[in-house]
Amino acid sequence: MSETKYLKLSGLEPLVITPETNFVNVGERTNVTGSRKFLRLIKEEKYDEALSVARDQVDGGAQIIDINMDEGMLDGVYAMTKFLNLIAAEPDIARVPIMIDSSKWEIIEAGLKVVQGKAVVNSISLKEGKEAFVHHAKLIKRYGAAVIVMAFDENGQADNYERRIEICKRSYDILVDEVHFPAEDIIFDPNIFPVATGMDEHKLNALDFFRATKWIRENLPYAHVSGGVSNVSFSFRGNDKVREAMHSAFLFHAIKNGMTMGIVNPEMLEIYDEIDKNLLEHVEDVLLNRREDATERLLDLAESFKGDFKSNEKEIAEWRNGSIQERLTHSLVKGIDEFIELDVEEARANSEKAIEVIEINLMEGMNVVGDLFGSGKMFLPQVVKSARVMKKAVAYLLPFIEAQKTGKSSSAGKVLMATVKGDVHDIGKNIVAVVLACNNFEIIDLGVMVPPEKIIAAAIENNVDIIGLSGLITPSLDEMVYLAKEMDKLNISIPIMIGGATTSRAHTAVKIAPQYKETVVHVNDASRAVTVASNLLQSETKENYVKTIREDYDKLREGYLNRSRDKNYLTIEQARKNKIQIDWDNFTPVKPNFIGTKIIDVELSQLVDFIDWTPFFQSWELFGKYPAILTDEIVGEHASNLFTDAQKMLNQIVSEKWLTAKGILGIFPANSVNDDDILIQPTTYNLQPTTFLTLRQQSQKTAGAPNKALADYIAPKNSGKQDYMGCFCVTTGFGLDEIANQYVKDLDDYNSIMIKALGDRLAEAFAEYLHLKVRKEIWGYASDENLNNQELIKEAYKGIRPAPGYPACPDHLEKPTIWKLLNVEQEIGVKLTESMAMWPASSVSGYYFANPESKYFGLGKIKEDQVIDYAKRRGISTEVATKWLSPNIAE
Ligand code: SAH
Repeated sequence: MSETKYLKLSGLEPLVITPETNFVNVGERTNVTGSRKFLRLIKEEKYDEALSVARDQVDGGAQIIDINMDEGMLDGVYAMTKFLNLIAAEPDIARVPIMIDSSKWEIIEAGLKVVQGKAVVNSISLKEGKEAFVHHAKLIKRYGAAVIVMAFDENGQADNYERRIEICKRSYDILVDEVHFPAEDIIFDPNIFPVATGMDEHKLNALDFFRATKWIRENLPYAHVSGGVSNVSFSFRGNDKVREAMHSAFLFHAIKNGMTMGIVNPEMLEIYDEIDKNLLEHVEDVLLNRREDATERLLDLAESFKGDFKSNEKEIAEWRNGSIQERLTHSLVKGIDEFIELDVEEARANSEKAIEVIEINLMEGMNVVGDLFGSGKMFLPQVVKSARVMKKAVAYLLPFIEAQKTGKSSSAGKVLMATVKGDVHDIGKNIVAVVLACNNFEIIDLGVMVPPEKIIAAAIENNVDIIGLSGLITPSLDEMVYLAKEMDKLNISIPIMIGGATTSRAHTAVKIAPQYKETVVHVNDASRAVTVASNLLQSETKENYVKTIREDYDKLREGYLNRSRDKNYLTIEQARKNKIQIDWDNFTPVKPNFIGTKIIDVELSQLVDFIDWTPFFQSWELFGKYPAILTDEIVGEHASNLFTDAQKMLNQIVSEKWLTAKGILGIFPANSVNDDDILIQPTTYNLQPTTFLTLRQQSQKTAGAPNKALADYIAPKNSGKQDYMGCFCVTTGFGLDEIANQYVKDLDDYNSIMIKALGDRLAEAFAEYLHLKVRKEIWGYASDENLNNQELIKEAYKGIRPAPGYPACPDHLEKPTIWKLLNVEQEIGVKLTESMAMWPASSVSGYYFANPESKYFGLGKIKEDQVIDYAKRRGISTEVATKWLSPNIAE
């Protein structure tokens, strides 16, 4: 079955459930029936605290939040309405879809009336007969929500396999055939009931759920399966160890059978592979009803887990006693390189040929790694560590293999990887390369700033199977379009994978794919790279996969074009009339303590406290806010291991001065002119007056909201007030590539990626540090400011430091103006590539605006008339202007 109809939900951000989605977890703590704390907060009308319960769940990784206000003493309609309205005003919560959970229709409908985005109703059923069911389904369809259907009918709840599938089938047919409910918007809850209750009729409760799930996924096209997981362990209340194991074992089997989402408490989940093996066996005996006495045995064992229980220190010492294969696999999975050469040598001595150790023993271990990662049970930093062990093992074997002159081992496919011309960023690309290499793909990595001719030539020469293109800044998007066009002209037919921060499924579908006859796929997540690459190369899957991708992208393109045509825009003239209004008559610009340009020297040690760690974890694909992420139930352990390694290296970077921080800033008299330009009066390098060009929002705003441009924050020339503006460039990138390359030579991708990630953090920290100094001393417009690092990260400071290439000023052509004003290249050595990327990579540049009314914003899309106007102001052709601004031009 080709699943082109995906379940698409949304808060402020979309959540699309595709066949590659592993599992969607629904946060359950905003439920008055399940959380005493939440009930108390709602009863006492402490909505602020109640909101923080929701926020904690989203921060903790919940992809949907379930909200339930069903309590006898509560006015459910009022509470649901009020709480959803409050959530709508909190973008960090509202970004995820809402599950409106109630057994009372009026509460559901109250929720549907106010909820933002596309929600899920939990739930409806045939409990009160077909008429009510159809009526509710029609209304839900009209409100545009998805729905959970309980396996419940006029005769009660389905409690065996046959009843489950009978009710689900009947519900499905009514919904699809009579109500014309979109099949992909139907989610069944086939009832999760407790097991190990001591009653015979409960023995099949879990197994029947698994079987029903499988049946639904195979027989009711596009429908999904969900359930409330904690119910399964009801009889072990008070014994968290056992409950946690039961939940994750239950999920493991349910997901394998096709369960796509579930209501879970992440704090009550153990990592499946870390469940004590003995306990797991007993739990699975119960869940899968594998033996008559399963319940008694689990109850007995559970006794020993009561209270605090710590084990497996012995286990750690014991793994060295395993078979040679077990030891190799263990080293690879755990990323331990201490014994690898010893074990590899032993394996070699026992093999006929050295190559067999790679092809048989090491591959077996790496397959385990690949499976664990693919199924979400292992995380990126561990995989990269596994790769390091693998590389060491292979390096040890190479001389033997060469001496035996056998051919190279057969790979899963050859992948060429490159960061496109003009772009210098490669953390993501390197991570994908490592992950693919772990899965037996042969990688040809051309590095960064690779011109298209070189990519094409290398692809042909090496006869590669896939080309992986990466880029971080927006001009790279165009570079990818260009490359696709060129390859098409040359009749090359090698599939392309696209990845990197500014790339997207939409851009790939709308702009790149149409240029190339072969397949182009967007892969922004290292954990998906393997699935995509394998699908593209295996002859059994390729045809179907490519077809699905194409259909998917065709739809995306249509939807995208329609949507952007639907939007209303002002002409640039109208937009300028609707600029931000600042009362300049009553405004006194703060005269800077310093005017001119200034080189900044700083010790790395001064920057450490200014680091924002959250993006560091993101670059390793661990998502969640620092410091909460360190204790997160799911990724906490991985995050803290990674953090420990990072701290160690950071200490070395600082104490041994591995990197040098260099910075320069300038503060100048400035006024806005002609609405959108900022005229700077340089005081150094004998420069003539210079203008910064700003771009103005053009989409039609709701009444009262302005169409903003950064120039609005600077006093206009005709106000008669002398205003000021600053700009800066900082770097911590010098010395970094040498160290990273040395790690690569030492077969240590983990640390090579680590130093790059830390370099980026230090550069951002430098920008933060310098901004503070500017506010308090150098300019001195906020000399009494007193903010801690958390507040700095939240941008609670007065004034802004927008960066070219970011939302308020996506125009990269502004960077050369900064370079000219500050003489950046000569003074501190940071260069601009042809795409205006800063080299070295760990560099940051931007502007300083001191006006207390200035706020960060996003430009959004602009229209042709502004592009023409901009080209004139800059003195370039409209064509060149279009090329540079293209990611921001409305279709
Ligand atoms: N604390 C983060 C900041 C990353 S965003 C980190 O350490 O990675 C990078 C920079 O973009 C910010 O420091 C700020 O200078 C700039 N920025 C943020 N929002 C912006 C916007 N809307 N327009 C332009 N620049 C913006």
